Amino acid sequence: MEQLLSVLVPMYNEQEVIAETNKRLVKVLSSIGMDYEIIYINDGSKDKTMEIAAQFPEENERIRIIDFSRNFGHQLAVTAGLDEAQGDAVVIIDADLQDPPELIPKMIEMWRGGAEVVYGKRKSRQGETFLKKLTAFCYYRTLNALSGWKIPNDTGDFRLMDRRVADVMRGMPEHNRFLRGMVSWVGFNQVPLEFEREERFAGETKYTLKKMLKLASDGIFSFSGKPFALIRWTGGLLLTAGLLLLLIMLIVNLCGGAFVSWRLLMYLMFTLSGLLLLALGLCGVYFERMYDELKGRPLYIVRRVYGKKNR
Ligand code: UDP
Ligand code: MG
Repeated sequence: MEQLLSVLVPMYNEQEVIAETNKRLVKVLSSIGMDYEIIYINDGSKDKTMEIAAQFPEENERIRIIDFSRNFGHQLAVTAGLDEAQGDAVVIIDADLQDPPELIPKMIEMWRGGAEVVYGKRKSRQGETFLKKLTAFCYYRTLNALSGWKIPNDTGDFRLMDRRVADVMRGMPEHNRFLRGMVSWVGFNQVPLEFEREERFAGETKYTLKKMLKLASDGIFSFSGKPFALIRWTGGLLLTAGLLLLLIMLIVNLCGGAFVSWRLLMYLMFTLSGLLLLALGLCGVYFERMYDELKGRPLYIVRRVYGKKNR
């Protein structure tokens, strides 16, 4: 049987771009010399995105649309796409044309050459604010310093995965998902493909500050216990220092020295209670996550699937 490529496109309020994206995707995919399916995931758009996209499966039987009952977020939209995809290889791409569809043939070529994951690595980012570039730069480097293994710098979710990798990803049911980290965690032969990240074709970013902070903390807390370890070490050091100071105070007193200033005790108390609160706060993060998993809720809820599977 001819090989199949699945392309997953999460979309949230993308009415200005989605028709153009579909046009460009179909054009590129018609020339790759393998069968394809495009799976759009409508992540609870409040604009005309769904209305526009509903036409796609009628014009092209290779297109399906998963329509979420509400906004679940980009990472869960991609997850739904992974569950739906049947391809021998799966490509994840943004709906706003910042990730050029024209790179897909190159990704396929590298996949045929033995790569099991081809991840887009951003050489430059057009049209993004200095602040976003700076925070992204610092974030990826902090994340790497904290996590036990290497998560590639400056990559997003634009990537191709082999079927085997996609299957492993489907077996990871965690709720707070940082897909780019999870893909890097599963291993396999992963190869970067450098590209210039383009400007958004139209519209504005759908990643609000709140959503960015959530993704950033998912990256750090799901992939590293190091913040915890840091607290433990600081706690240990402070405790040792405190005990030593008390011992010195006792010896000085026993040798007839003056009574040690109450300030010392007060400062020690401040430091220790601050440390305790911080440690408790960090425990909370992990407990919250355990609670999320315990609840065992579905990750997303599909209202309806448009179009038929081809296999
Ligand atoms: N997106 C989504 N759900 C959301 C937010 C974003 O499905 O809650 C999609 C969005 O439509 C786009 C992709 O995720 O296809 C990346 O979002 P965006 O381009 O706004 O992020 P940026 O490129 O600015 O980081
Ligand atoms: Mg974008």
